[in-house]
Amino acid sequence: MKADCLFCKLYREGDHVAATDGFVAIRDINPQAPVHLLVIPERHIDTFRDIGEFPADEAKRMLEFVADVAAGAGLKDYRVVVNVGPSAGQTVFHLHWHVMGGWS
Ligand code: AMP
Ligand code: ZN
Repeated sequence: MKADCLFCKLYREGDHVAATDGFVAIRDINPQAPVHLLVIPERHIDTFRDIGEFPADEAKRMLEFVADVAAGAGLKDYRVVVNVGPSAGQTVFHLHWHVMGGWS
């Protein structure tokens, strides 16, 4: 956990749409799609660039949870996005996965 990190805080006390050991999903506060969820790992890394810090089994479980969250939201077709770095649109520096869908 990193002090003053918004997503470390939301991991602990957010309004979770789904949760499993080490991962939660929340609704994006500023949705860019009819369904726009964020998957947040408990483990704090600033960006996807540092993904090597995740144990392999934890990285696999995170990806499976992304798929589970999409399915749980009733999405068959959807977009999974990770913005890496400010010029790519990253604004919160705790790894998170955007799950967007529900257009039709
Ligand atoms: P990114 O720009 O890829 O770093 O994504 C950060 C996302 O977090 C944006 O889509 C924001 O709308 C979202 N966000 C920021 N603050 C909150 C919050 N308190 N609760 C839910 N989502 C948030
Ligand atoms: Zn954090």
